[in-house]
Amino acid sequence: MIGQDGKPIPVTGWTLRYDGFVPQQEGLREALCTLGNGYFATRGAGTESRADGTHYPGTYIAGCYNELQTEIAGRTVENESLVNAPNWLPLSFAAVDGPWLEVGKDNVLDHRVELDLRRGVLTRHLRIRDSEGHITRATCRRFVHMGAAHLAAIEMTIVPENWSGPLHVRSQLDGTVENTGVPRYHQLASRHLVTIDKRGLGDAAVLLVTETNQSHIRIAEVARTRLFRNEAHVDDRRTLIDEPGRIGHEFTIDVAVEDTVTVEKAVAIATSRDHATSNAAVAAGDWLDTADSFDEMLARHVLAWDHLWARFHIDLKGAEDDRILPVLRLHIFHLLQTVSPNSVDRDVGVPARGLHGEAYRGHVFWDDMFMFPVLNLRLPELSRSLEGYRYRRLPAARRAARDAGHVGAMYPWQSGSDGREQSALLHLNPKSGRWLPDTTYLQRHVGIAVARSVWQYYQATGDREFLGLEGAEMILEIARFFASTAAYDRERDRYVIRGVVGPDEFHTSYPDSPEAGIDNNAYTNVMTTWLLLRAIEVLDLLPEHRRTELTERLGLTVTELERWEHISRRMYVPFHAGGIISQFEGYEDLKEFGWDDYRARYGDISRLDRILEAENDTPNRYKVSKQADVLMLFYLLSADELAVLFDYLGYSWDPARIPETIEYYLARTSNGSTLSALVQAAVLARTKQEEALDLLVDALRSDVADVQGGTTAEGVHLAAMAGTVDAIQRFFGGVELRGDVLRMNPFWPKRLGTLEFNIFYRDHAITLRIVDHTVRVSSGPGKHPPIHVGCYGEMRDLSPGQSLDFTLRSTAEADGAPVTA
Ligand code: BGC
Repeated sequence: MIGQDGKPIPVTGWTLRYDGFVPQQEGLREALCTLGNGYFATRGAGTESRADGTHYPGTYIAGCYNELQTEIAGRTVENESLVNAPNWLPLSFAAVDGPWLEVGKDNVLDHRVELDLRRGVLTRHLRIRDSEGHITRATCRRFVHMGAAHLAAIEMTIVPENWSGPLHVRSQLDGTVENTGVPRYHQLASRHLVTIDKRGLGDAAVLLVTETNQSHIRIAEVARTRLFRNEAHVDDRRTLIDEPGRIGHEFTIDVAVEDTVTVEKAVAIATSRDHATSNAAVAAGDWLDTADSFDEMLARHVLAWDHLWARFHIDLKGAEDDRILPVLRLHIFHLLQTVSPNSVDRDVGVPARGLHGEAYRGHVFWDDMFMFPVLNLRLPELSRSLEGYRYRRLPAARRAARDAGHVGAMYPWQSGSDGREQSALLHLNPKSGRWLPDTTYLQRHVGIAVARSVWQYYQATGDREFLGLEGAEMILEIARFFASTAAYDRERDRYVIRGVVGPDEFHTSYPDSPEAGIDNNAYTNVMTTWLLLRAIEVLDLLPEHRRTELTERLGLTVTELERWEHISRRMYVPFHAGGIISQFEGYEDLKEFGWDDYRARYGDISRLDRILEAENDTPNRYKVSKQADVLMLFYLLSADELAVLFDYLGYSWDPARIPETIEYYLARTSNGSTLSALVQAAVLARTKQEEALDLLVDALRSDVADVQGGTTAEGVHLAAMAGTVDAIQRFFGGVELRGDVLRMNPFWPKRLGTLEFNIFYRDHAITLRIVDHTVRVSSGPGKHPPIHVGCYGEMRDLSPGQSLDFTLRSTAEADGAPVTA
């Protein structure tokens, strides 16, 4: 069950709910109560809160990065971060001569926070007694407008319970914020913003303009605050409060016991990165002019969410664990708050930790590969736009390849504003307090993920225009890079790829070797073969004129293509003596690790890298993995596809060895990444369903139960979030897109009840249902041509407005059906 270990899971139905005020939990709650719309997001901190060690009211605008330098451990390091933008939340009150609202353990009589996932509204109920004995009730609702990217609004209702007299209300914009959300980064420079302008705007509004001090992005925020007493407008007694870095209004009105004062704060945000904008301040003012009353804006915001939920509809009825569905909704909700229709046409990628916190400095990793399968089938226009983020950074990837002595495109492991490598050169081990060199940037496999996502998008949409304009070029240039890193080893008569790091970041070099990287990571090498084959295939998919243009422009010759073909056939893959795929060459020679001993000594050993380094040891010496690495092959490719690949490579590899391989690596993985349980659940879905379901539950718990003990407060784990939805769709639901056929080969666990979800496939609005013994595929009305649908190998055509029924097979019968989307 998701709520195992006695840790209550705070989400039911469509509501995430926290009762009481628990300072130690505040960071986690704020991250999970983040509101966003794909353009910007703001953590669920109270409107009166400041960054004070308990609260962290961060706001992040997609794609808004800035770089700072710091002297650390005798070196100058540069770090580019997603900037914590000026805080638009500040809204507070004070009773008579009492103090401004501050929520602490001693003065709170009642505190409840509810996040409505269906409507995207965060509500906080508060009853407070200040130091002078004034008891006040307040309810605060807020949203970040999903239907109008630049807008957000707060409504606060204040009721004096036992006092009469002046009520003071303060509403501000705060540009004094810094990036201090992650304790591990506290020694790094954190001040990104300079105030450029701040003033009153007309009678009711204020303007704050800041600029990032290296990337020179202007951020303009405008806030309009209105007061109502017992529904009558009463904001005539306002004063402008102008403080260093802050601007706002203060109001004083007389209230009597049980009067209701409502404060409405509407906010608009614009930046110099926005399209069709010449001046961010003017744009923010213009956006604010479009803001109606709180309720009118709310109605349009809810409509936008209704539309999104129709696309992302998923239902599990009668599941044994009634928390699975609410957690899946929470995951979809946070994915869509990070990237949404509002992200389309903006130059943004998907930060691994959402727009929810500052972990990994808002960088983009390979994590989007875990999200595309969910997005491609529901918001393909968003997927295409996100591919644009990578396409625009192709020149940077080409430069990186050239600087590394290669050709083609070498995408960075961590990507930010301009596509240069943003991985940190040093990282802090909080366990030892030491700053250490970080060579995880050698994860070249990120390029394969970029190419894979292009290919997956094409499979889902059949969008040849995209392939011709951008997709093929990316695949070809990435393939070119991998071909150039592959060196021919004459003795083996095979190609080898040396000096990389695989998805398992624990192995960054050989024991006692001064050289960074390991050789022949099986995942990288096998996927390189996959990539080279796709590169050859993609050329065939292009219309002749485009193929000619592209090959001429890229200078791609027949000889080069022949070399790719040769590499794809002769890539080296390491195996253990017993025939199991080796994670990398030499892995088998490493020492076995004392798992039981370390578990007994440390309890949580997921971050063994930190534990061992603090003991002056290193995971490089042991058969230990942070996360699935070889198993990623089974996550991405079906057993059938892998069998064909190994056969093509000339290795005798038997898919029957998959379960043994899975067991081998499961026993040697510490699950230091939230991706690990997810991948393990997926690869076990067809062979050990009960274990797979337990692992799926682990993956579902990643953020909502903060399984890593503190990391969620620094940002959610979006790949694991989206991956759980993909696991339901692809690994248990068996949805597979291959060869212009929508296939369903469900391997559906009874414990999950019945399944229903919506997808788009080749212009068809499809609903898939698994109920009792039937798999039903229905297409909504329309005029488009029929599609091919396959279920356990039985092929039929489906026209708009029609439904097809297939008989659900039992576990044993369905086994062996390939699953890859
Ligand atoms: C994982 C990577 C992942 C990154 C960002 C790391 O802990 O090992 O695979 O890309 O987090 O989510």
